[in-house]
Amino acid sequence: MGRIEVITGPMFSGKSEELVRRALRLMYAKKKVIAFHHALDNRFGHKKIVSRSGFELESYPVQNFAFEVIWDLAKDYDAVLVDEAQFFSDELVDTCLNLRRRSKIVVVSGLDLDVYENPFGPMPKLLALADRVDKLKAVCFECGEEATISYRLSGEKEQIVVGDKNYIALCYRCYYAKKKEER
Ligand SMILES: [Zn+2]
Repeated sequence: MGRIEVITGPMFSGKSEELVRRALRLMYAKKKVIAFHHALDNRFGHKKIVSRSGFELESYPVQNFAFEVIWDLAKDYDAVLVDEAQFFSDELVDTCLNLRRRSKIVVVSGLDLDVYENPFGPMPKLLALADRVDKLKAVCFECGEEATISYRLSGEKEQIVVGDKNYIALCYRCYYAKKKEER
């Protein structure tokens, strides 16, 4: 039976690590797994989702998540994994529903919120439609409490600025304190 699982949370909350863990579990269960990520986060061709235990899963960069494109690549697989899902349009939502209807297991990982506390891209819809949701926490870079939101250190105002080094994860107390400092 098909299903949609969503792994979400701020940056540094271990979403990719969890995605790899799910991939491994599916493979132990003899499922064929294929993974995708947004081409935006891809400056070096195919990327590998690598876990700390050294397991590698090849991931294919795609510009959009149109069903025809994805189905062509994924129809012979049992499970479809999507990393950095927040970068896609709502097309991703339709495709995930289509895949579930066709008995595929879909596991999606992405940021729930951008750095301004806004729901990010297709994620809110996916969170509502999913069979299972796991919201992970990071550790607050300032105080060590559980961190729920990503904060950008550099000054860009756009929603999307790629690169881990520009970001930290914060609890809301430290987040609002930083916001106050900004003003
Ligand atoms: Zn904090």
